[in-house]
Amino acid sequence: MENQEIFSMLATYDHEQIVFCNDNATGLKAIIAIHNTVLGPGLGGTRIWNYKNDAEAIYDVMRLSRGMTYKAAISGLNLGGAKAVIIGDATKIKTEALMRKFGRFVENLNGKYITAEDVNTTTRDMEYVQMETSHVVGLPESMGGGGDPSPVTAYGVYMGMKASAKNVFGTDSLAGKKIAVQGIGKVGGHLLEFLHKEGAELIIADINETVLKHYAETMGAKVVAGDEIYSQEVDIFAPCALGAILNDANIAKLKCAVIAGAANNQLAEEEIHGPLLIQKGITYAPDFLINAGGLINVYQEHIGYNRETAYRKAEHIYDVTQEILKVSADEKIHTQKAAINLAEKRIQDIAKVRATY
Ligand code: NAD
Repeated sequence: MENQEIFSMLATYDHEQIVFCNDNATGLKAIIAIHNTVLGPGLGGTRIWNYKNDAEAIYDVMRLSRGMTYKAAISGLNLGGAKAVIIGDATKIKTEALMRKFGRFVENLNGKYITAEDVNTTTRDMEYVQMETSHVVGLPESMGGGGDPSPVTAYGVYMGMKASAKNVFGTDSLAGKKIAVQGIGKVGGHLLEFLHKEGAELIIADINETVLKHYAETMGAKVVAGDEIYSQEVDIFAPCALGAILNDANIAKLKCAVIAGAANNQLAEEEIHGPLLIQKGITYAPDFLINAGGLINVYQEHIGYNRETAYRKAEHIYDVTQEILKVSADEKIHTQKAAINLAEKRIQDIAKVRATY
């Protein structure tokens, strides 16, 4: 990749800074992308991934860091957006030394970037990072952290789902509503607890048979095989496993009125599939808004952890979802676009606040 291409990508996505970290001794090759710090330090997890080439890693970290900017902004947090990727196969490259070396690179940024766990990094890895820098969140409760953010993420998704239900069905009660959940992992499992407690009728799919059996037995959830989850006749579909599942093929199969789930980047192509869902009469609760509970949880850790405050802030996702659905209807734009506009407006407004001393 030509140097010029990197700078044109920086300009396109409007990034502030990209840091390339190399350490031959530990084998660390990492990229930290700081997208926007108008609202506060850039916070975003560190992902370890075996990218095909450097260009793919750069593209991924830039895309993900921009997503963090929007997620923090729309959640009303005083945080900017950033993300880091460590290049390589996590099962082969991950060592204490590599994670600590990465921690030193984070430390060198003096708090402009705050890291956390992400795909292929764990709380244990963050303990190593924390040995070299204080700019890390997502630590275990035993170390003063907020622990697993998934329950708060699930609560936020539940709030976004209820707000969408209110908009579409006239009531936010989910009692008796048919809800299909794809992916019963850390977030999906907690989400099922909320939905079951409220009396929803559950349909579930996962690739893990043990998990499916558990929820079928304990909650009477109906299990469907793999991709059949898309064609279920339900009130609400909650994607909680994979990104890019709202594509041409799957949208054609959907028979739901609302989509509200935890998975990141659900729309395969925002400007194609956002409008397509509107055409099909499906209300889509923007993923980066309703799955922000995890970020809200780690932000609390950054300012002094309090679990109750984290849940209270995640509850606010209900109001913001309603606002987005209203703007989407009023301005005739798809909901993801309405959410991005709102996030960008907050950044612009706060930039003005900070324009003078
Ligand atoms: P997880 O790995 O614990 O759970 C994912 C589940 O999806 C697993 O049970 C897995 O078996 C299942 N799955 C994988 N492929 C599948 C397929 N083809 N069909 C059906 N099920 C499949 O992950 P998680 O932490 O629960 O996160 C779920 C989603 O939410 C991810 O997209 C994640 O990026 C996003 N998210 C999570 C958090 C959080 O706090 N954990 C926060 C924001 C967003």
